[in-house]
Amino acid sequence: MNRYRIAPGTSVDLRTIDPRDKSAFSDLSKSKALPVLETMRRELSALQRVLWADAQQSLLVVIQAMDTGGKDGTIRKVLSGVNPQGVDVVGFGVPSEEELRHDYLWRVHRHAPAHGRIGVFNRSHYEDVLVVAVNNLVPEEQWSKRYGHIRDFERLLVDEGTTIVKIMLHISKDEQRDRLQARLADPSKNYKFNPGDLKVREQWDAYMDAYGTAITETSTETSPWFVVPADRKWYLNLVVAVILIEALTGLGLEYPVNEQNLDGFIVT
Ligand code: ADP
Repeated sequence: MNRYRIAPGTSVDLRTIDPRDKSAFSDLSKSKALPVLETMRRELSALQRVLWADAQQSLLVVIQAMDTGGKDGTIRKVLSGVNPQGVDVVGFGVPSEEELRHDYLWRVHRHAPAHGRIGVFNRSHYEDVLVVAVNNLVPEEQWSKRYGHIRDFERLLVDEGTTIVKIMLHISKDEQRDRLQARLADPSKNYKFNPGDLKVREQWDAYMDAYGTAITETSTETSPWFVVPADRKWYLNLVVAVILIEALTGLGLEYPVNEQNLDGFIVT
């Protein structure tokens, strides 16, 4: 999925990236995508079993998006089939009072995945340079130093055995309007509607800028960002599945060899 990987040093402007692109699976459509996703899920599940058995490395998947971008659905659809015992999904909301009395990475680091596990961050420490920067929740001189902290923090995780992929689900403003309207119109989606999302929508341009800067500043060789076109959910799911499969395949995982001589054992 190199086409969506942001090479280090690239200056990212999300406005130039098409949320409706489907060039990686141009011969597919919604109805044909499901069996393909199913095959990918099986592959992902097989890879996760070796990651778990090997227990030497971990995978951290950071997922960010504007509201209605499809974070929850992607996590559900791509990771269903993977052994739930080996996956930790953590959502990061508005920090608690206790969390605000610490540095912003304090609450994040403890959720970094243990060896053998896949950790999924549904929102993440990137909120501390997104919502925080857009609204100046702390002074600029404070949040502007965070890109450097984040690069260092992620390098620490990588050096200690974690592979990181960061995924921005990129939807268009028009698509968000349709999805928010659907939340209002459909009683089974009403619960997801939050009036606060409308305020964030008004800040769309500021968020695009903040995302662009954050991705530009923190997409590195070992901790890359992927900006994934997200207006079509079936497409997004396939692309995210491939990103995870490629990340796990890249680890060169193998089942550990049992050092005991197993010949002598008889199961009665
Ligand atoms: P989601 O929208 O991801 O489904 P919530 O409805 O719980 O989940 O929203 C989480 C909210 O928490 C978002 O509005 C997000 O901007 C906010 N949030 C997350 N991290 C921070 C942070 N560090 N500082 C301030 N707000 C944050």
